[in-house]
Amino acid sequence: MSIQHARLQDDLRGLIKGDVRCDEVTQQLYATDGGILQSRPACIVCPRNIEDVIAVVRYAAEEGISLHPRGAGTSLTGESLGEGIVIVFSRYMRRILNVGNDSVTVQSGIMRRRLNGIIGKSQRRLFGPLAGNVSSTTLGSILSRNGAGLHYLRYGLPSDHLISMTLILANGDRLTLDRHFLPQPLRGEGSGIILAQEIAYGKEYVYAGQVAQILNNRTSGQLVESANQIPVSRAGYAERDVLLQSARAGGGNPPTSLVDLARLFAGSEGTLGLIVEATLKTVSQPQRGTAAAFFFHSLSQAIEAVSAILPLNPVLCELIDRRRLNMVREWDARYHHHIPSEAEAALLVELDAGMHDEPVTLIECQHNLKHLIDLVRTKEQLSFHALKVSTAEDFQLFDEVIRRSELVLGRMRHSMQFLPLFDDVAVSPGAMSDVINDLLPLLHRYKITASLSGHVGQGHLRIHPLLDLAQPNTMSVLPPLAEEVYSMVLRHGGAISSEWGTGLLKSQFLPLQFPHLTPLFREIKETFDPQHLLNPGRVIPSEAHWTTYIRHGLEKRGLTPPSLRSSGSRYAEQKPQEESPPNQVEVQLRWEPSYVFEPAHQCNGCGECYRYDRQSRICPLSRGTTTSEYIPRAKADLLRGVLEHDLDVDQLTGERAKEIADTCFQCRMCDIDCPVKVDVSVLSFRSKSAYVAAHGLPLDDLMISRFDNLLNLLTPVSFLFNAAMKNRVIRWFIEKTLHIPQRRVIPALTHRPYLHRIRWSHWRHRLLSEQTNKPRVALFVDTFANHFDPHLAEWAVQILEHNGFSVHVPPRQRSSGLPSFSVGHADRAERLARQNVSQMTDLIRQGYKIVTIEPPSASCLTKDYRHLFDHRESDLMAENVVDFCTLLQQYQQAYKFMGGLQPLPYRVGYHASCRGLATSVSRVSDAMPAEQLLRLIPGLEVHRIERGCCGMAGLWGFQQKNYRHSLQIGIPLFRALRQPDIDFGVSDCSACCSQMAHGSKKRAIHPIRLLAAAYGFAPKELEK
Ligand SMILES: Cc1cc2nc3c(=O)[nH]c(=O)nc-3n(C[C@H](O)[C@H](O)[C@H](O)COP(=O)(O)OP(=O)(O)OC[C@H]3O[C@@H](n4cnc5c(N)ncnc54)[C@H](O)[C@@H]3O)c2cc1C
Ligand code: SF4
Ligand code: SF4
Repeated sequence: MSIQHARLQDDLRGLIKGDVRCDEVTQQLYATDGGILQSRPACIVCPRNIEDVIAVVRYAAEEGISLHPRGAGTSLTGESLGEGIVIVFSRYMRRILNVGNDSVTVQSGIMRRRLNGIIGKSQRRLFGPLAGNVSSTTLGSILSRNGAGLHYLRYGLPSDHLISMTLILANGDRLTLDRHFLPQPLRGEGSGIILAQEIAYGKEYVYAGQVAQILNNRTSGQLVESANQIPVSRAGYAERDVLLQSARAGGGNPPTSLVDLARLFAGSEGTLGLIVEATLKTVSQPQRGTAAAFFFHSLSQAIEAVSAILPLNPVLCELIDRRRLNMVREWDARYHHHIPSEAEAALLVELDAGMHDEPVTLIECQHNLKHLIDLVRTKEQLSFHALKVSTAEDFQLFDEVIRRSELVLGRMRHSMQFLPLFDDVAVSPGAMSDVINDLLPLLHRYKITASLSGHVGQGHLRIHPLLDLAQPNTMSVLPPLAEEVYSMVLRHGGAISSEWGTGLLKSQFLPLQFPHLTPLFREIKETFDPQHLLNPGRVIPSEAHWTTYIRHGLEKRGLTPPSLRSSGSRYAEQKPQEESPPNQVEVQLRWEPSYVFEPAHQCNGCGECYRYDRQSRICPLSRGTTTSEYIPRAKADLLRGVLEHDLDVDQLTGERAKEIADTCFQCRMCDIDCPVKVDVSVLSFRSKSAYVAAHGLPLDDLMISRFDNLLNLLTPVSFLFNAAMKNRVIRWFIEKTLHIPQRRVIPALTHRPYLHRIRWSHWRHRLLSEQTNKPRVALFVDTFANHFDPHLAEWAVQILEHNGFSVHVPPRQRSSGLPSFSVGHADRAERLARQNVSQMTDLIRQGYKIVTIEPPSASCLTKDYRHLFDHRESDLMAENVVDFCTLLQQYQQAYKFMGGLQPLPYRVGYHASCRGLATSVSRVSDAMPAEQLLRLIPGLEVHRIERGCCGMAGLWGFQQKNYRHSLQIGIPLFRALRQPDIDFGVSDCSACCSQMAHGSKKRAIHPIRLLAAAYGFAPKELEK
């Protein structure tokens, strides 16, 4: 850290209670948002209260440092980026302060989804406008952008729901702005009268007077610019709400009472003041009416249909083009049935049945929908297929397709990406066809293809060109292309922004839209922020050209990270050592671009992983904290920073990078719940392994990594070990020395591990299996079954054989290496992987499938091994590994047979392990193979418990430092298991079972135990 940054950090830490960080890694985490721009801040501050905010603002004003308010950091135009101090509201200032009958007072950092979750549950009400259809969008950003958003046709603008808000100005003044009319001014002139007005009516009145004065100097004609016929135009300062109102009120002489400061600040993109609190109107949850999805053979037909649809007053009318439809189809198999592959475009239309307190008949609504479908399909013959949406499940799919179509765009695996460059333009819906007709040839001229979508019912259009930012000619094409696109939109009476705001990306084009109002915007800005400290470069453009903020791809700077050196043989096998660069860090694993660059770049910054609600499992570990520094996105940002040379590679081996990487226990839930399925688990492993290569492993991590070795050593003295584990004094001593918590139950160690037991018998099995025509499987046992529960492996073999498989257990197999992965011990993970791969691939070539007892082992063998070494064998292995329950369930589905199961009169709560989910299904809510299998047992009642991760994560929860956190994560699951209608818990992961039993005080068992009991292989097993 430089001396200046250290001073800044010390100064601010002395002034406020909240967090202050100026280290390079943290700067990198806040250098980007959801878009393609980048600007590295000097300092990051997370204020705890309003006093903190005021102190930071005053300090920044004295030192002349710019300030950049930030919520979740998901905006697309670089709105919350900057070189000064980033003030993060989403960390601490996220409380609900008061809930009224039809209003709510909140701090600005609260997420809209969280707020609506809480008031939805307690009052069946919500804050309506949704500008920013991502889960982490904060209220501060919604107000500061005042975007029209997805629900504009139903709810209008956020400022329509604003009752009052509290702001901190650039000089530290605190203003509370409400929507009351202001009194007549006191008569007189000069500073005396200003002071008198301030004393009599407050500072708010004085500022309103100053704005009125600015407006007084303009004629009404000057206050109205071309774009004002677009109701959703959101560029500049309150151009429709304040300026137009003033103009209507009699031209350039608006009374102070008409200067609605609250409206002026809403939509000001954090450039006039920092929002700290707001009181907002709430509305009843809407009763969903009816909806339909229309599919078209061409984009122009879809646009044409909009004019037919709008007279029926839809509350939502969304356009989605073929590219996005295809991505949604790929993302979730259910959409294969719903979205016809020949569709070039779709319109999703919803008609409202009104709120609960203002009923509109559903019948009327359905009648309208029928009429609409007739009109679009039959009469106008525009759409070739329409789907009605009416049930709750249909609506869930309907909502999800809209959300996902916005989130999936980063999914491209190569450097060509659909970039959020010219999205968020708006034209009146009537002019939409003309705009598309002009746009397509324009893009064609530049040889660019684009994805088009948007809230077309309100004239909003997203244009995402497919570009490769790493290509040199892209940067030369961008400025003229942007100018042409915006000019064309403005020629059609449109606006350059309707939701996002102009940010750093578009503010330089604002004078095109408002040639006369731009000087007035500057005067307004200088009234509240004369030094241009708050979010400079937004609304009032800065000198720097917008393209200078664009993030460059790695390729542009020379593809391979030059200062990374691999340790040992792995990398050297492919690339001979070149001359030594100055900074060298021992990197582990495969560093080819496809394995590092793509996952790091795939993260589109959407912030879906920054959430606390229970509708998603991502990310169990960072969920408990409120900082975005530990979420999956942070791991991708960290690696990307290194790969793009924005962050010195040495930082990877620093404590701060380790702290961030350690907040991933590699559960792989990102594989399912991240909309673009970024492989964050392996990105964290990369960071951890670089640290371990530089510093070695601490003792407790070493024990985890070498857990299987340790158990081999203890096996001969297992009786002693088991007795010692029950002794409180010894456990206390172990806790103090080896950091294994006393209260953690350690299962009894067997004196004869399973792989020892079959040492002499496996040849017989092998010979037998080779002589039959039965499907051949090789059982991968892994550490738990081998050392703690050999019965599991025995029963697995019996059940497989009973169902017609020929089973071989390779006796020299090693542990999967998952514990070594979890602590970043790449050398050992690689050694184990190589041994397993070489044994197993021999068998695969002889026609065996590899069957694991637990899905976490399967996910390690199929997903993690691929990153360790560049062997085709690891890929071959990945294609031939299957988990036990999945194999049997597939077998049962194929042959409709799994005979011989006896009734079991129990009610069990099934918990799916995170890695199991990530290996087996595409959505958390999908039925797991083990669950389906257990349902075949007569009399057994299987309740799926979906309460998130259990918190154990292999051996992570075994460490003293993680013990409490581990139990906290599992609390919702334990509560569900404790319900009296559950006899015991079931999970296909033994670590989960041990945590479930520990947390719920009920027995938790592996499905193999239940199957063994049902087959009669273990008749007394469940009576224990
Ligand atoms: C994949 C993807 C899809 C998206 N789709 C949409 C979409 O459909 N519609 C849409 O509108 N947006 C969309 N967005 C953009 C983004 O999600 C929204 O802009 C969101 O509202 C930003 O919320 P945030 O909390 O992350 O704000 P941030 O990015 O942190 O900040 C946004 C702006 O608000 C200001 N701000 C934040 N807090 C305060 C405060 N307390 N006081 C003053 N100013 C403040 C910031 O300075 C900045 O100017 C999308 C983003 C992604 C990545
Ligand atoms: S990791 Fe996934 S969910 Fe998180 S910000 Fe990146 S793309 Fe979004
Ligand atoms: S793999 Fe699991 S712990 Fe790691 S970032 Fe993803 S969700 Fe979080």
